[in-house]
Parts: sequence; C-alpha cells; structure tokens
Amino acid sequence: MSEPITTPVTPTTHDTVILGSGCSGLTAAIYAARANLKPIVLEGHEPGGQLSITTLVENFPGWPEGVQGPELIENMKAQATRFGAELRMAHLVSVDLSKHPYELNLGKETLRTRTLIIASGASARWLNLPSEQALIGHGVSSCATCDGFFSSGKEIAVIGGGDSAMEEALFLTRFATKVTLINRTENFRASRIMLERAVAHPSIKFLSNTIVEEVLGVEEKDVKGLKLRNTKSGEQSTLPVSFMFLGIGHIPNAKMFQGQLDLDADGYILTHGNVFPTHNGKDIPGVFACGDIQDRRYRQAITAAGTGCMAALEVEKFLEQHGR
Ligand code: NAP
Repeated sequence: MSEPITTPVTPTTHDTVILGSGCSGLTAAIYAARANLKPIVLEGHEPGGQLSITTLVENFPGWPEGVQGPELIENMKAQATRFGAELRMAHLVSVDLSKHPYELNLGKETLRTRTLIIASGASARWLNLPSEQALIGHGVSSCATCDGFFSSGKEIAVIGGGDSAMEEALFLTRFATKVTLINRTENFRASRIMLERAVAHPSIKFLSNTIVEEVLGVEEKDVKGLKLRNTKSGEQSTLPVSFMFLGIGHIPNAKMFQGQLDLDADGYILTHGNVFPTHNGKDIPGVFACGDIQDRRYRQAITAAGTGCMAALEVEKFLEQHGR
C-alpha cells in the first residue's frame, strides 16, 4: 500500500464520499448510510447513470415483469436517503490522492474525506464526426429514452451492434415508422435474445459492414440523412433519415484519475479484489472503485450494484482499522 502524506482531520472531514449516482454508487450509498457513515453522493454529470436513460430492465433480480431503469434508480435514491445518505448536484473537478484525508475540489467548494468510492461509470460514445457533433440535439442523440418521442412518424437510424443498439432500435419502433440499424461489421455483440427480437421486428432493417461518413443537414440544422460506406465493397450511399441514435458503447469517466490510478488502455480503472484500485501496482488507502468505471467484462446493473456493496463494506472495514 503506498502511504499518502497525512494532513490533520478536521470536524468537517467526511467518512466517505461517493462519486456517481448510478446503480453502483447508490448501492454503495445504501450500505454506507446503513453503517451510519452519512455518505455524501456527488451526482455527477449524468445523475442516475446509465439506468436513468434506459427503458425496461428485465434482468434485475426481484422484478419478474421488469422495471423501468429510471424507476429503479429513483427507488435506490429513496432507499439511500432514507438511511441518511446526502445527494448533491456536484461533480469532482480534481483530487490529489497523495494527501490523506483526501481533498475533493468540486469547483465551488472543497470536501475533505477519509475514504472515497469512485463509481463515476461511463458515458455514451460518439462517432466524433464534425457533422455528428454539430447536429447533437438537432436529430443526433445518444439517448433513445430522452429523445425517442421526437422521432415520431419519421424514418431513423440506430448505430451499433450491441445490446444498447438493439434496445434502442426496439424502443424507437414505438415512434419511428422505420428503423435502420447500422453495424460496422457483420458480427454483433448483442445477446442472442436481444438480437433475435430486433431481427424479428418488421420495422427494423439491418445494414451490416457499414459506417457513417457524414451526417447530412448541418446547414439546415436538422438531420436530413446519412452518407454511408460499405466497408467491404467500398460502395457509398445516402440513407434519408431524420434522426440518428448512437448505441455504440461507453467511455469510462476516469480522466481526473489519470496519473494517480492505474488505468487500462481504454481508460478503465484497474482493480484487484473487485474494488481495490492501485497506483504503480500499490493500493491507495481508503480509495475504492466500483461499477462500470472498473468493470468492462460484465457491465450489468446487478454487477455494478454488487461491487458498490463491496466498496461500501471495504470503507467500513478501512474506517474500523484506521479510525474515524
Ligand atoms: P458494446 O456491447 O460494447 O457494443 C458496442 C457496439 O458499438 C459494438 O457493436 C461496436 O462495434 C460498436 N461500436 C463501437 N464504437 C464504434 C464506432 N466508433 N463506430 C461504429 N460502431 C462502433 O456496448 P453496449 O451495447 O452499450 O453494451 C454494453 C454492456 O451493457 C453489455 O454488457 C450489454 O450486454 C449491456 N447492456 C445490456 C442491456 C440489457 O440487457 N437490456 C441493454 C444495454 C446494454 P464492434 O463490435 O465492431 O466493436
């Protein structure tokens, strides 16, 4: 374990601060609150995390008919606050993990804490085409739940070949007249059940081995179509659609820990024992990571909740051993 420089504990030093209010952070908050640690939860840029922008979750145990993602998150928040967790609309600007207690710079204020649970999750990935970026909010979206309604009566495209893309495509058939699902290869990462549902849907058409080269409509400030290229034949084509939804995965929110924690090549926090991050291979006292920020293998709501629980239990153990 690398030893940080110790600075005095003040009456305003918190026992634990949790970065992120998704499934993992809120589970950590429930456990930490029930241990009377009065956790502060920083809600971050995307309060509620990925579940709050999803639709029906059918695989969270205990909900035989499924549960809406936002409802699940609201229930978790209510459960955490009932036991004394405090949710704050704030996000971490910077932190120096070489000084303990840790000082979290939130921009307008600084929080001191003995322990830190990093549950900052991952954010939607974009294609990063200039035309795509120019049209975000004008027919380009990474959130079908948020913007699906605006595609009512229109022909649209969904990009991706994983479960997110299948889920978005299926959800969007409620509004759009036709959904074209564009995958850059002919291999699909989606689970068989989701893929089969999408394939069987009469309003969803599949375009494989195809990439988007440009989103048309920048001048009009409204999506008019997509310029496509078949990666096998090289053939270019134009698909007239009024909306493009991205479902191409996520990027971990760990930039502020670069140089302070060991990250993998894609920027996910490396952990051992599920929740212990390291710096140059050594543990950082009182710092734990849970959920999608450190899990690129399972990435499920239930596994995020599981590691959130583990992180909170490790916080309890750490405070018992090192004093509050
Ligand atoms: P994912 O499984 O990583 O799939 C990402 C997809 O986007 C892949 O098809 C990938 O193509 C494609 N992609 C990535 N970058 C791209 C780019 N720049 N241009 C074009 N295509 C690109 O991500 P996900 O679908 O978000 O799923 C993440 C995890 O959440 C999975 O474990 C999934 O099972 C889970 N999930 C579950 C549910 C559910 O059960 N209801 C719903 C959503 C997500 P390549 O294959 O070519 O890389």
